Amino acid sequence: MLISILEIIGVIIAVIWASGVVYLLSKGRVFKWFYHNILGWHLPSDKLQEFDGCSFHAHCKICGKEIMQDSQGNWF
Ligand SMILES: [Zn+2]
Repeated sequence: MLISILEIIGVIIAVIWASGVVYLLSKGRVFKWFYHNILGWHLPSDKLQEFDGCSFHAHCKICGKEIMQDSQGNWF
C-alpha cells in the first residue's frame, strides 16, 4: 500500500470542490424554482428585450414564454 500524501490531499481537494459545485448548482436550482414557481416571476433573457411604448417584452430564460414587465419591475 503506497498512498502518498499528495494523493490524499488531491482526493480531499476534489471532494471539497465537487461538494462546492453541487452546492452551487442546487442553490441555483432552488433559487430559480422558488423565484419562478413560487413567486410566479419569470427571468428575462438578457437579450431581445423590446419596448412597445407601454411595457418591456422579453422571453423567459427558464420556460421560454413571452413575458412582460409590470410597473414594479417584476416579470410575469
Ligand atoms: Zn418562465
